[in-house]
Amino acid sequence: MTFELSPERQRRLQEILAHYSPNRRDAALLPALHLVQEQEGEISPEAMEYVAQLLRLAPVRVLEAVTFYSLFFQKRPAEQILWLCRSLPCRMQGCERVLAALVERFGLQREKSTPDGKFALYETECLAACDHAPVMMANETLYGRLDPEKAIALLEELNRGISPPSSVKPQLTKIGHPKERWLLYEGLTVPDMWTLRVYREHGGYRSLDKLFQIEPEELIRRVTYSGLRGRGGAGFSTGRKWSFVPKDVTPRYLCANADESEPGTFSNRYLLEYKPHLIIEGIICACWALQVHTAYIYVRGEFTLGKRRLEAAVEEAYEAGFLGKDILGSGFDLDIEIYSGAGAYICGEETALIESIEGRRGQPRSRPPFPATRGLFGQPTVVQNVETLSNLPLIVHYGADWYRKLGVIYRQTLPAVDPLNTGTKLYCISGHVNRPGVYEAELGLTARELIALAGGVRENRTIKAIQIGGPSGGCLPPEHLDAPLDFGPKLQELGAPLGAGGIIVFDDTTCMVDVARSFIGFFMKESCGKCTPCRFGTWQMYTLLDLIAVGRAYPSEIDLLEQLAETVGQTSLCGLGQAAPNIVKTTLKYFRQEYEAHVLEKRCPTGACEILRG
Ligand code: SF4
Repeated sequence: MTFELSPERQRRLQEILAHYSPNRRDAALLPALHLVQEQEGEISPEAMEYVAQLLRLAPVRVLEAVTFYSLFFQKRPAEQILWLCRSLPCRMQGCERVLAALVERFGLQREKSTPDGKFALYETECLAACDHAPVMMANETLYGRLDPEKAIALLEELNRGISPPSSVKPQLTKIGHPKERWLLYEGLTVPDMWTLRVYREHGGYRSLDKLFQIEPEELIRRVTYSGLRGRGGAGFSTGRKWSFVPKDVTPRYLCANADESEPGTFSNRYLLEYKPHLIIEGIICACWALQVHTAYIYVRGEFTLGKRRLEAAVEEAYEAGFLGKDILGSGFDLDIEIYSGAGAYICGEETALIESIEGRRGQPRSRPPFPATRGLFGQPTVVQNVETLSNLPLIVHYGADWYRKLGVIYRQTLPAVDPLNTGTKLYCISGHVNRPGVYEAELGLTARELIALAGGVRENRTIKAIQIGGPSGGCLPPEHLDAPLDFGPKLQELGAPLGAGGIIVFDDTTCMVDVARSFIGFFMKESCGKCTPCRFGTWQMYTLLDLIAVGRAYPSEIDLLEQLAETVGQTSLCGLGQAAPNIVKTTLKYFRQEYEAHVLEKRCPTGACEILRG
């Protein structure tokens, strides 16, 4: 049986291929596979052969990609796939009950089709909607705050061919200290802010009036002086990162990273859906500073609404002359390509993202060389998170001095300036709080203040712990609620770096062994498998945590777990494996007595661990 793309999809693929020189056709691999799956609902062996021939790739290269990315299916599982999030924030809000109800009512089985072939249920690790937990995605639409009754009603509607609108609507973003134009606030409060017309009415693209008068070198200097640090997790100085790019090597590339997928973080999704033009404006600023003429935006595969709005925004920006040739008569050319991921958390790591754009499995590269000197297609490349980029128009328009004055530490230490912690941050708060959501505030807000903005802890319960920085961060007891949530040394010393700004609050019903097991389970599933310490180490840590949780571990295995965490952290190749053990280290450091109660007394102090309860 032969396979062929429809004429319309062939045309779209030819358009994509036109962006790449003949020796870089493999960069069109993921887009081609997306087109195949869009048409067929699966990527059959015949379709893989077709794609391999079209792109002149070895068939094994195509198979390699199809088997790596979780959104690709070699066989269509059912008419509709239900993606149920089972990450910790969704488990805390009852996704297990939702799952049980769906299994009982519709006979759903994990990763299997219902007898009538209509639905297949897949568990996913995070849908970046933790403020609406528990969440499920169906027909590319997110449904949040589900309970068993709502989930059953939803499936009955889907069964009748009705696709209800998404129930995931943004929370009103609270601002700690109102200033002029910030990143997200107006995006969530002004209707249609994702359109060019409304964005411009609210000052959008104003930075371009000044941008092209600033020499690129001078802009790099100003961004360094502004104190802007990467918001994607590492918190490295943006200006310094740019200064590593060699000036005499062309072409250079910018990759905007919108592949957010860590449980507890969901601000990038809101930026894409509600302020796509701000991201584009930020990319223009960065590309001018770096003299880059082609930028890629790598969007997480599950962000379907965000991708649609971003595509529309890019089109509008071209039509308005903000992209393309000779932008606003400046003589500067810039093209933006949108690249869709396919379900691999590791692609948020910068070298894995580059590999993915180049049409390979998203597996991190060994460094050096660093992307700044040898990145995409072997050329100097800057990979920058979309939240970081969204700060640039503000720095260009209001100036670096204005930007430096945003930051809690600054106000507290006037006239000294803390160059580590300037600007605002999109904090994501979820878990046991009354109003989970994205809260934009000046960098340096404390967890106590953030929890207050989020309406406090549900049912006025006691806070047991806060997870800072998502699963890669660390878990702290309430004594540290007044530590500033910033990139300063305090959180590092405590073992809970801010990362991408995801904060999960746990009340006193939470078992910390279960929290550690859940997060390590996330890393175990998301490990790309390239290096042994991470591939086996996360699995071994998960096995030990599972034994501890059910009261079947030996006392010595707590020490073994601690040693293993140290080894995995020190010997893994990339940030995923290096940060994965943080949750084990911090829960052992601050909540060791809970581990010991499970092992020595065969008791879960909170009663959360089912087997020990019986
Ligand atoms: Fe892959 Fe984990 Fe090794 Fe990173 S640390 S390269 S994710 S196996």
